[in-house]
Parts: sequence; structure tokens; C-alpha cells
Amino acid sequence: MFDDLSELYQQVILDHSKSPRNFRRLEGADRVAQGHNPLCGDNFTIYLRMEGDRIREVAFQGSGCAISKASASLLTEALRGKSRAEVEALFGRIHELVTTGKSDSAGLGKLTVFAGVHKFPTRVKCAILPWRAVLAAVAGQAEPVSTE
Ligand code: ZN
Repeated sequence: MFDDLSELYQQVILDHSKSPRNFRRLEGADRVAQGHNPLCGDNFTIYLRMEGDRIREVAFQGSGCAISKASASLLTEALRGKSRAEVEALFGRIHELVTTGKSDSAGLGKLTVFAGVHKFPTRVKCAILPWRAVLAAVAGQAEPVSTE
């Protein structure tokens, strides 16, 4: 599936899927969300520690394909210190990026590696799953999210 992804993007995704960042249970988490993608078998738990409206700490556990795991790992690095509104705005841009391959990349940093995912429609849900879980968590939603 990586044939059409650039080598640089492949390397970042493989690095984060093999050595995911913030891959642990977060002690003192005040928001927890489950994300499940039955088509691929991706299954993650996202932990957040909020300070008011802002994410102070974010971590995750679970298993899934390289794309979903790398997405969760990069997300934990991107979201620290972000407010709920900032998370929602960033999600809008990521969603555009993975569904169209186009987005204003300013401020997206390493998240731009997911631009190539739009060529693989079944993988879009893998990339988006951790984001859906985080959105549910910052919204205080207790129900598990599923891509189906
Ligand atoms: Zn997947």
C-alpha cells in the first residue's frame, strides 16, 4: 500500500508505528475515549488530561495498522496544549488532507505525512480514527466511537 506514498512520508509513518510516542496509559487522565475501526481491526484508547478547556497531556494504548498507530502517535505530539476549539479546527484540516490530499500545510508539521492516504480510501478511516476518539474525549462524550 505504500507504493504511492513518498519515501519521506513512509519513513515517518513507519517510525511512529514502530516506536509510537506517548504509548502508555495516562495516570490521572480525566477523559478517556475508545476508537474502533472494524474494517481494519484498529482499536485504540486515548487518554487526556485537561486543564480547563486545554489538553495538558495526551497518551494512547491499543493496536492497529501502521497508518492508525502512526496517526495516534503523531496526534499525541500535535495536541498537547491545544484547546477544544483548536483541536476541532485542526481535525477539519486533517480530514481535508486525508480525503483530498490537499490542505494548507502551514502549522500541520509532520501531520502532512498523511496527505498520501487519500489515494487509499479504505485507509482514510484508519488515519481519522484516533482523531474521532480525541474529539469525543474533548467533548466529554463517554460512548466509544466507531468508524462504522
Ligand atoms: Zn487501519
